[in-house]
Amino acid sequence: MLHIGCHLSSSKGYAHMGREALSIGADTFQFFTRNPRGGSVKPLDPADILALGTLLAEHGFAKVVAHAPYTLNTCAADENLRVFARETMADDLARLEYLPGNYYNFHPGSHVKQGVEAGIAMIAETLNAVLRPDQHTTVLLETMAGKGSEVGRTFEELRAIIDRVEHAEHLGVCLDTCHVWDGGYDIAGDLDGVLETFDRVIGLERLKAVHLNDSMNPLGAHKDRHAKIGEGHIGTAALSAVTNHPALRELPFCLETPNDLQGYAAEIALLRSLAR
Ligand code: FE
Ligand code: FE
Ligand code: ZN
Repeated sequence: MLHIGCHLSSSKGYAHMGREALSIGADTFQFFTRNPRGGSVKPLDPADILALGTLLAEHGFAKVVAHAPYTLNTCAADENLRVFARETMADDLARLEYLPGNYYNFHPGSHVKQGVEAGIAMIAETLNAVLRPDQHTTVLLETMAGKGSEVGRTFEELRAIIDRVEHAEHLGVCLDTCHVWDGGYDIAGDLDGVLETFDRVIGLERLKAVHLNDSMNPLGAHKDRHAKIGEGHIGTAALSAVTNHPALRELPFCLETPNDLQGYAAEIALLRSLAR
């Protein structure tokens, strides 16, 4: 069975997201752990988080994905920004221990003129500071489009980060279809080839989740503008081939397309109807 959902707002609490997911036919979803543009976070409500955990188990959800604020930059040149990123991630991971066994996805970072090697070293340094041997959350590095100085456009860069992390058993990768397409990986023309490359460079066992998005831009554009399913350059057939691929089909898929809830419900229904 296809495990699919979308990005949901956590503003009304955790258990509310579970009910919202059910109402649109989702059996997984993604949410920001806190204000995506800043770092502010509501006080921890363990009962609410535990209620979501009960709902997920009762309804047979796949793993869900908590997304770090996208303004965090674990390889910023300014040390204060790196410390902020580290403290935020550590706090998020501590909170996620109330929802054990799920995923925490983050954008590796932007090296901003320091060079990709320096960026990779700082990202790994952050992960080494926040990962705990006994934690119950797998941290996912998201594949990036290569906009500006984003680290993580190539599979080699992600591999280089993983290689420098001590508790790499808690690391995985989240493949964003729009990002890899914009990064130059032709998932529409040669999905098998892209996955073979991923397997050779990183290892498919690290691939834990997929962000399912169409792209407003052509292959290799390095832009990162998500489109609705079928309204971009990747297309519905290629995206449904992603959800049906034998190496991917058991993973949780999260839509991050520009939609309201009804639009997400329609895309979830469409992709379920195309599931083989
Ligand atoms: Fe993301
Ligand atoms: Fe994404
Ligand atoms: Zn994106």
